[in-house]
Amino acid sequence: MKAWRLHDKEKLTLDELPVQNVGPDCVKLKTLACGISITDVLMYEGKMPLSSSPLIMGRQCVGLVVETGENVTGLSRGNRVAADPFVCCKTCAPCKSGKSDECEKMLCYGVNDNGFMSDFSVVPANMLYVLPDRVQDSDAVFIEHIALSINTVSKLGLDKGEHIVIVGANALGIILAQVAIYYQAVPILVDTDAEMLSLAESLGVYYTVNSVEADPMKKIFSLTGGKMAETVAFVTTSHMAFGRSLEYATNGGRVALVGCSDIADELSGSFASILNKQLKVMGVNNGARMFPAAINLLATRTVDVSKLVSCEIKFADVEKCVREHVENRDRFIKAVVKP
Ligand SMILES: [Zn+2]
Repeated sequence: MKAWRLHDKEKLTLDELPVQNVGPDCVKLKTLACGISITDVLMYEGKMPLSSSPLIMGRQCVGLVVETGENVTGLSRGNRVAADPFVCCKTCAPCKSGKSDECEKMLCYGVNDNGFMSDFSVVPANMLYVLPDRVQDSDAVFIEHIALSINTVSKLGLDKGEHIVIVGANALGIILAQVAIYYQAVPILVDTDAEMLSLAESLGVYYTVNSVEADPMKKIFSLTGGKMAETVAFVTTSHMAFGRSLEYATNGGRVALVGCSDIADELSGSFASILNKQLKVMGVNNGARMFPAAINLLATRTVDVSKLVSCEIKFADVEKCVREHVENRDRFIKAVVKP
């Protein structure tokens, strides 16, 4: 099989690997589509440490089942599936108490274990979900973002009619805004990029704030009737300052840091508002257990990702695509690779 492996900073190569055997409880997948996200670009740049090397890239995958191992039930050859990249240990205290999304030893394929950027892969059957026919391959690579957004809304305890300021209008921020609307909350999306904000507006996000053109504090004050927002979600892969986003919350408000934990060291700004306003701050780094709900939101077109694919590329062009996006990271939305 052929796989794109990251060996070191800026060293990504297409390697020929031995064919894997399909063991018990496992399935062999032919990759139909794989997403390249900002996290992948950051790993390539060396801005996120590699936990093992070489590492097969890619955590967002749609595949076709071509072989099933012993004991596999519910999946058969020809099924089109999405893979949940998050694997919990099932033995730690959170896992045993039914909170597997808070697993102490959570692994993520493509981040701290081999991912899916290969022509074929062999994976445990229990991480796969069959896709409805109406969900296209290139849309399904966003299921992981939708699942993370559902988990965020749930952890924040977002209530009907509440405001949620979302800082960062990249693919995850725009999807989170759409999920918030589904929960009958009012998203206010803040970014410095006019084009990304107008893309969000075209996907149904009504309140957007360009923090270059307007003072976000004044705008949010006005939109919330002077209360400021009950909830704030800061997208960690955005280029915005975390400290500033704390100021958008009301006293006693709830704030979530959403996304990838490995770049949290770069969070900037003053965090005094956490104490001054007695904010409840939480982290949400996965959408484990939320895949079926995320697939449903895509199948019912509740979440529209149609404009979020910036390019579709051939399997041979992965390195070229990642390299190009290093220069242009803030404008990067999502590339879809079709082997
Ligand atoms: Zn666990």
